[in-house]
Amino acid sequence: MPRQQPKQRPRRHQRQQPRQQPRQRPSKPDLRGFQLDELKSFVLKLDQPAYRAGQIAEWVFGRGVRSFDEMTNLSKALRERLSKEAILACAEVVETHTSETDGTRKLLLKYGDRTRIEAVLLTDNKRITGCVSTQVGCKFGCSFCATGLMGFTRNLTAGEIVEEMISLREAAAPGRLSNLVFMGMGEPLDNYDNVLRAIKIANAEWGLGIGARRITVSTAGHVPGIRKLAKEGLQVELAVSLNAPEQRLRARLMPIADRYSLTQLIRAIEYYSESTGRRATLEYVLLRDFNDSPEMADELAEIARRLLCKVNLICYNEVTDSVFSSPTDQAVEDFFSRVGRRCPTVVRRVSRGSDIAAGCGQLCIPRGRK
Ligand code: SF4
Repeated sequence: MPRQQPKQRPRRHQRQQPRQQPRQRPSKPDLRGFQLDELKSFVLKLDQPAYRAGQIAEWVFGRGVRSFDEMTNLSKALRERLSKEAILACAEVVETHTSETDGTRKLLLKYGDRTRIEAVLLTDNKRITGCVSTQVGCKFGCSFCATGLMGFTRNLTAGEIVEEMISLREAAAPGRLSNLVFMGMGEPLDNYDNVLRAIKIANAEWGLGIGARRITVSTAGHVPGIRKLAKEGLQVELAVSLNAPEQRLRARLMPIADRYSLTQLIRAIEYYSESTGRRATLEYVLLRDFNDSPEMADELAEIARRLLCKVNLICYNEVTDSVFSSPTDQAVEDFFSRVGRRCPTVVRRVSRGSDIAAGCGQLCIPRGRK
């Protein structure tokens, strides 16, 4: 059966110019992005005993304070010294939206340079998951994604990502933030060093104390990043947005596929599994009349079977200015059943927070929004 064509061929997203110049790196170190050994070196340079590093880590990560003045078990002189020598990345939660349908919450965070990002808190019976953004906008321009349509402004620093996670933890209270998914705005593996540092802080006992297996890094298919992550010795989960089981179609949806082909991506996933002993998850957003045919279900199942991957099927969340639309419930069910015949580890993921534009692919800071 011939594959159906979309209503209109999706336009390749034109990469937009950054909205502002990358800001100057702060001249003072940001303790929110420091690991414990770096905090130790830092306090030793200030002629302080090494145990001060543990005290500072407790304030910075454990309690998430936003000023050195709040570190009340440090002397006033030391607090003043810290204020002169270092900074703490801080963000203000300027808006919170709560879904009426499923309780998902979306936070709009504003950093000191006025750049803003969105972060999402998903709650179910067993866990509270923070969906973390890693970049202000995104340079990869996937045509189904609102973040991709807004263009790229800058990377978040490690300290800013940790601050975002602390804001999510505060929003989760009195519940406990149990899981993190790097699936918010931006491609995490394109901001590799900052994301890796933030993951290590999130995972550390002296940091946020979230188990590595409860942390998922989601990529659009950044092949060098997947290969690098495989060698880090971390136990984090990897999710790959596949979205089309063949190269040509995938490249129409995701320009990153022109840079890293489907064949290269499949090899990188194989390498990741061999190196870490962990199975990746393939994410597949179903778009009506574009990637939801029975043939594609079979091709997807074949890739997943070969890679021993789990598959998450997600119904497309419609966004403004997109040519795509969501498939019917029946089409999703048919696709799900067909993949499931060959690949038993397929899950139909329920879309959460779509009524507040917090669903997969919906995060965006429209121009002019204050
Ligand atoms: S799906 Fe991910 S990589 Fe693609 S544009 Fe959106 S944020 Fe960027």
